[in-house]
Amino acid sequence: MKDFETLLAQSAQAHGHLCPGQVIGVKMAMEGCRLIGLDEPSTLPQIKKLIVYVEMDRCATDAISHVTGVKLGRRSLKFIDNGIMAATFVNLETGKAFRIVSKESSREDAMQFAPQISDKRLRQLEAYKRMTTDDLFSIQEVIVDVPACDMPGPTRFKAVCEQCGQVVRDKKEVYKNNQTLCKPCAFGSYYQPVKH
Ligand SMILES: [Zn+2]
Ligand SMILES: [Zn+2]
Repeated sequence: MKDFETLLAQSAQAHGHLCPGQVIGVKMAMEGCRLIGLDEPSTLPQIKKLIVYVEMDRCATDAISHVTGVKLGRRSLKFIDNGIMAATFVNLETGKAFRIVSKESSREDAMQFAPQISDKRLRQLEAYKRMTTDDLFSIQEVIVDVPACDMPGPTRFKAVCEQCGQVVRDKKEVYKNNQTLCKPCAFGSYYQPVKH
C-alpha cells in the first residue's frame, strides 16, 4: 500500500477537496486493511477478498472507497445508513473483521494537537494527521455473516413482485400479507409520480 501522504493527496483529488474527512477516511482504511491482513486491497487478487460496510455517506466514505478500491457497483462497498462515522472491514477469505468507529472526542482533542491553527476545519485537518489511531478510533473485532445474496458475482436470486411485476434481484423482495413484493410496493417509495 502507498504511504499515508500519497493516499491522502490522491484521495483528496478524487473526492474534490482536502478535508478532515479525507484524513479520517484514509487512516480508517489503512488501519482496517492492516488489521485484516490486506496490504494491496485495491488490486488483484486482494480486491476480491475485501468487503467494507460503511455507516455514513460523508466525506470519509469516499476516502475509504478510494484507498481500498471497494465500490458499490462491485458489491464490495456496503452502505448501512446508520449516520455513524464507522466502517467495518471484512476479509472474506479468513473471516477476520474489524469495526472502526471515529471517536467523538477527537473533535475536541484537535485543539491540543494543533492549537496554533485558529480555523477550526484546518485545525481538525492538521490534528487528525498528527493523531494516532488510538486517539482517533475505537476498534472492535467483530463477526460479519455476509449473506450469499450480498456477495459479489453474478446475480443468483431473482423474484417478481406480485403487485407490480417488477423483477427484484438479490433477495431484496419482502413478504407481506402472503405476497412477494418489491420494497416500493410493500413500504412505499421515496418518490411520487408527477400527476399530469
Ligand atoms: Zn470532503
Ligand atoms: Zn412492486
